[in-house]
Amino acid sequence: MTITPPVVPPVAPSPAARTGADVERALLATIPTGLFIGGEWRDASDGGTFDVCDPSTGEVLLRVADATPEDGMAALAAASAAQKAWAATPPRVRAEILRAAFEAVTARADDFALLMTLEMGKPLAESRGEVAYGAEFLRWFSEETARISGRFALAPDGRSRLLVTKHPVGPCLFITPWNFPLAMATRKIAPAIAAGCTMVLKPAALTPLSALLFTQVLLESGLPAGVLNVVQTTSAGAVTGPLITDPRLRKLSFTGSTPVGRNLLKSAADQVLRVSMELGGNAPFIVFDDADLDAAVDGAMLAKLRNGGEACTAANRLLVHESVAGEFTARLVERMRAHTVRRGTEPGSLLGPLVDEATRAKVHELVLDAQAEGALVALGGRYVEGPGYFYEPTVLTDVPASARIMREEVFGPVAPITTFGTEAEAVVAANDTEYGLVAYLFTRDLNRALRLAEELEVGMLGVNTGIVSNPAAPFGGVKQSGVGREGGLEGIEEYLETRYVGIADPFGVAR
Ligand code: NAP
Repeated sequence: MTITPPVVPPVAPSPAARTGADVERALLATIPTGLFIGGEWRDASDGGTFDVCDPSTGEVLLRVADATPEDGMAALAAASAAQKAWAATPPRVRAEILRAAFEAVTARADDFALLMTLEMGKPLAESRGEVAYGAEFLRWFSEETARISGRFALAPDGRSRLLVTKHPVGPCLFITPWNFPLAMATRKIAPAIAAGCTMVLKPAALTPLSALLFTQVLLESGLPAGVLNVVQTTSAGAVTGPLITDPRLRKLSFTGSTPVGRNLLKSAADQVLRVSMELGGNAPFIVFDDADLDAAVDGAMLAKLRNGGEACTAANRLLVHESVAGEFTARLVERMRAHTVRRGTEPGSLLGPLVDEATRAKVHELVLDAQAEGALVALGGRYVEGPGYFYEPTVLTDVPASARIMREEVFGPVAPITTFGTEAEAVVAANDTEYGLVAYLFTRDLNRALRLAEELEVGMLGVNTGIVSNPAAPFGGVKQSGVGREGGLEGIEEYLETRYVGIADPFGVAR
């Protein structure tokens, strides 16, 4: 395969006002619906398709190809065939493809945002935020591409030399969830491109459209055939299983739930695959008595309601000092009451639908369970009638540790509040979970913040902020929240192997 530098086609700017059924139909008509294998869009090998629906109406948006296990293997074959030439591509060329893709996604931000809102439900303003966040991984890793380096060192005995070099891991399989349809893809694809790895992407069946549009953008940005292959499917296990046990695959990166991640880890053991696992969370959001309560309520709104609560980083348990719990709860209830629930494309929408009925039913089940255990409903707690899977912004108080919601991800707009008396109690409660993705803490006491940064069992901590995601920072969890980091300086290492070359003393003293 010959690799040529990318040619970036001019991108038409998106019209400023982009809402309405006509705009939606016009955008959907431009979205590729096939599988992308070996640089070509194609139908599934058995001609199968499945529907992608709008969670705010239940209506079908598009019908896309439904990959079979044979299609999955064809995608791996294409990735494997392209690996050698792609690894040999100059870093600057890879960097410029990423940069071109960053520019193209940014120029088409309105299209990506609308598409994401249509397939996933979040309000347009939030989708725009995800497009910017997702695009930033392209820019960040375009800048990292040329900085992959090794080292040359004198051994401690002063004789032999040590040469350490970095090499792409090889073909990767990416499995991504529905809650961030673009960013969870770019967070893996960008560092893989930067490192010189080829890949197969299996996006979530509920939301494959953003990934398909992004694939088209990468193609237009000059990504060579075979480097990225995309196989959306309704048979996730059957399509990805054979890839994971195939010796041509060298890395599995998964973002999704902990139970599925655990099983994938077991399968990955057979080939001793490199793995990255971005799994579930159960984030504690801790408010101390010395906190700036305005900032804490702002932070709680972000940490709880960003993405409608459908985020691994969502505040799952609000632990509030008993002396400020009443005031904090009253302010949070007022803010959440004013949060407008409507279709994400409508002006003023602050909370869209949940992604499907199963997700909504699980949210309600956890609310009912908490009530049965003694929690009080300060706000919400009900379905919003009408088409779509809407749920009221909900605040629960006096939630006992025995309630399932304190242990399980609620993945919806529900804020369970519980209180604590001392810092030590807060730390014990915060760590009382199998998860360890992120925690948030609000305090004016710097020493306390630094103490908790060491005591909390998490991969990430927000201090006086309700948001930690940043492409320049290492994102990931400890305990059963996962293995590995995405983004930051660490993100590219997940796609690189380290090779060491021992070199005899060039002066011959050792011989
Ligand atoms: P999920 O059910 O685990 O699905 C995630 C992905 O795995 C989807 O593409 C899904 O495909 C696929 N999948 C499901 N079963 C599979 C199997 N047996 N073999 C191979 N692939 C399989 O999770 P989700 O409900 O989509 O996403 C929500 C979860 O993701 C939450 O737990 C959340 O905390 C977590 N998450 C974590 C992070 C992080 O960075 N730590 C970020 C975002 C989300 P289909 O959908 O097509 O079935």
